[in-house]
Amino acid sequence: MTSPAIENVVIAGGGTAGWMTAVALSKTFQPRKFSITLVESDQIGTIGVGEATIPEVLKFNKAIGLNEDEFIKRTNGSFKLGIEFCNWGKQGDSYIHPFGKYGTTVGPVPFYHYWNRARKDGYPHSLSEFALSVKASQQNKFTRPVDIKNSPLSEIAYAFHFDAGLYAKYLRELAEGYGVTRTEGTINNVTQNDNGFIKEVHLENGKVISGDLFIDCTGFRGRLIEQTLNTGYDNWSHYLPCNAAVTTPSEKLTPLPPYTRATALDAGWQWRIPLQHRTGNGYVFCDKYITPEAAQDTMVKNLNSQPLAEPKLIRFNTGRRRKCWNKNCIAIGLSSGFLEPLESTSIHLIHEAIANLILLFPDKDCNKPTVDKFNARLEASYVNIRDFLVLHYKVTQREDSEFWRYCKNMDVPDTLINKMELYKESGRIFRDNNELFGEVSWLAVMEGQGLNTNAYNTMVDCMAKQQLFDQLENIRGVISRSAENMPEHQAFINRYCQSP
Ligand code: FAD
Repeated sequence: MTSPAIENVVIAGGGTAGWMTAVALSKTFQPRKFSITLVESDQIGTIGVGEATIPEVLKFNKAIGLNEDEFIKRTNGSFKLGIEFCNWGKQGDSYIHPFGKYGTTVGPVPFYHYWNRARKDGYPHSLSEFALSVKASQQNKFTRPVDIKNSPLSEIAYAFHFDAGLYAKYLRELAEGYGVTRTEGTINNVTQNDNGFIKEVHLENGKVISGDLFIDCTGFRGRLIEQTLNTGYDNWSHYLPCNAAVTTPSEKLTPLPPYTRATALDAGWQWRIPLQHRTGNGYVFCDKYITPEAAQDTMVKNLNSQPLAEPKLIRFNTGRRRKCWNKNCIAIGLSSGFLEPLESTSIHLIHEAIANLILLFPDKDCNKPTVDKFNARLEASYVNIRDFLVLHYKVTQREDSEFWRYCKNMDVPDTLINKMELYKESGRIFRDNNELFGEVSWLAVMEGQGLNTNAYNTMVDCMAKQQLFDQLENIRGVISRSAENMPEHQAFINRYCQSP
């Protein structure tokens, strides 16, 4: 016997996660046979941080039909070509983890094998010289992909910095336009059926909202998935020890950088996110090694200007909900876990959960194979991203503070050790199981922080040394000239998407 179809979806929470889910479900299922109600609490509010993204966000915006220029204008957004990491390998070091790629096709194996062989043969130029995103970032340039055959300009990969609060507001307008009903109020009680499925949420103002499927977007507290269903949490703070952040905005940067900066500090790291009207800043730290007061002082001292608002303290535990989907409740956003914002992956994880929910949209019984598949897919994403984040801490040569000594010497997952050893011993990197971060990302961080290799795929030895050097110089020249020809990031924004 088939289970009846879902009639009422209830989204608890109206932060970025709640409104992204609301707009995606309401836009995707048209005509729709189920209602969507979103409950949000003005009294509790949203987390109010989350400004940097990765290129996958373009797919989400496209799927919900956002006009990109309009979206940038409305969110005070800017463009992002990568992340600059300062002081991570050693004090004084810096490298950019670029979006897009390194080099171009030289022969049958990936570009970095040719570069690694050339380096061994004495070729002097760094990998960064082969990434258009790096060259453009260094000159504060930006353009969207330009339709020129065989040009690196046709392959530019980018993401955005934006004000996540304004983004949620914009998405709310769209979702309400697609028929989502919004209810204001704080959930203070939840009732369940005999099988444990959630039946109703009760609000402080007396309203009762019943549903067949509940999406928990209530942030860290996990009002439904944890406080009601006691699903459990895998704490990963032994791998990712930072557990708090102090944040504050400061004046806008001129010229406007098209990249995020992450600067390693004594007990964590500080972000700098350039928006059109201001700069987002935050010191992500571990409170075992520094007090919140000292972290705040350090962050403020490191600003380019005065803070524009009273610094805010946010506490968190890195890890993930044991099951993102439990019974008829699906956790999306911070209620499903948090891996810290080092590679700007949280908003992406929201998108990924929504995409999987659409693929696996259930009937009322939320049958086990469907739920298991969703949970397995989300678990794999969390684990893969976790390993990549842990890499940044593990591959440090810093020993100048207790925090960095811990990170350098900590035990890390075998999956990560295997990746590091494979690169060191054989010069190879693989993107397994469709993981989010591919060869370019792993290469950028490993090389950028001093995990180098002498190995490469010996197929590249087919090419004579001078021929290889000539080819690399040719590619390097094309990339350098392409960057020079790009407009200034600020000029590009002024032309297409300046906020009012
Ligand atoms: P929240 O914003 O906390 O929203 C929760 C919602 O639930 C609110 O509407 C609240 O009112 C409602 N709610 C809660 N309890 C109840 C209740 N009982 N009844 C009714 N409603 C309720 N992500 C990125 O992608 N890039 C970044 O650069 C980035 N930086 C970050 C930096 C820090 C320090 C932190 C902590 C997070 C960062 N994130 C970042 C993550 C990002 O902020 C979140 O993923 C995103 O904002 C989604 O949050 P949310 O909607 O899950 O939760």
